[in-house]
Amino acid sequence: MDTVIRKISQDITQQEYEYIKEAGEIIRAGGLVAFPTETVYGLGGNALDKNASARIYAAKGRPSDNPLIVHISDMDMLDELAKDIPEQAYALATLFWPGPLTIVLKKKDIIPDETTGGLDTVAIRMPDNDIALSFIKEAKVPIAAPSANLSGRPSTTTALHVWDDLSGRIDMILDGGAVDIGVESTIVDLTDEEPVILRPGYVNEDMLKQVCDTVLRDQTLDDMTRTDIKPKAPGMKYRHYAPTGELVIVSGDAHKTVEKINELARQHDESVTAVVTTEENKDLYNYGKVICIGTRKDPLSISHSLYDVLRQMDDYGMKYIYMEAFYDNVLGDAIMNRLKKASGGHIIYV
Ligand code: AMP
Ligand code: MG
Repeated sequence: MDTVIRKISQDITQQEYEYIKEAGEIIRAGGLVAFPTETVYGLGGNALDKNASARIYAAKGRPSDNPLIVHISDMDMLDELAKDIPEQAYALATLFWPGPLTIVLKKKDIIPDETTGGLDTVAIRMPDNDIALSFIKEAKVPIAAPSANLSGRPSTTTALHVWDDLSGRIDMILDGGAVDIGVESTIVDLTDEEPVILRPGYVNEDMLKQVCDTVLRDQTLDDMTRTDIKPKAPGMKYRHYAPTGELVIVSGDAHKTVEKINELARQHDESVTAVVTTEENKDLYNYGKVICIGTRKDPLSISHSLYDVLRQMDDYGMKYIYMEAFYDNVLGDAIMNRLKKASGGHIIYV
């Protein structure tokens, strides 16, 4: 299959809107279109068509028990897809949609089991990106869309990343340039008595507390060693976002972190060893390929480049990758969650 790329600017010209309509037609005909959102690129198909969902799983090589997030462009779609919707869901949607928050609710029968990996719940979100919203509107159906990467690889944050993973496997890529946030949406489950964060993202715990009195966290988020309990988001049990080389995260006091990474890096051949750091520390490393991911003064600069940097590690053929940990009040939880997954939990505390 030939994959067509259509460039779309954020202002969306008339000609570009025609491309978006074309993408909508592909969806209605059962095809697949990758599209930009504010978080990462999504791989979209008709959420109401079980064959389209099956194609998404096949294109990604994704295990079929890992449900897809359903993307909507207006609030009416929410009521069509979910039942017994609690007031809290409307309050969260009013405050954060369109935006990087996914809400898990009880599903209506209109959504096939294939889309939700057999669960009786559905994860729904309205993305904050005009190209995405126009695309969903023109498709005239809700769009099931996981991240547009091959299963297990880092998510995609540019159309080129999508092309690298999925060309020949999907019908079209809407190229809206690099995304803003760079890590996937926060997932909050509202099907229990108390809201539970299943995956951290840009909308953090403090922000959710503007609406919810209490917010719980899925137990497996903070303790990856718990193999006796299953994460409530099935996707969180898989190794994810990982480069091919061995990724190790070093966490702790800044000075000791630099010392430890320099020591670890020197154990390997310099040509296949990388250090991932920030503006603040980049001059303190002098061995291996030193990559600056952003600045600690702006956590968005780090989340924005995270997957691109992890992908570059593969492009450069790096076998050993040492990376500083990133904690901050806004995005730290989301970034560290992805780094834990990408490293298979390999974190050294100094
Ligand atoms: P991705 O599309 O790659 O961002 O992955 C979607 C994530 O949402 C995966 O971790 C899924 O397990 C999770 N997810 C989707 N639907 C549900 C649901 N109904 N209940 C819990 N988690 C879900
Ligand atoms: Mg994914």
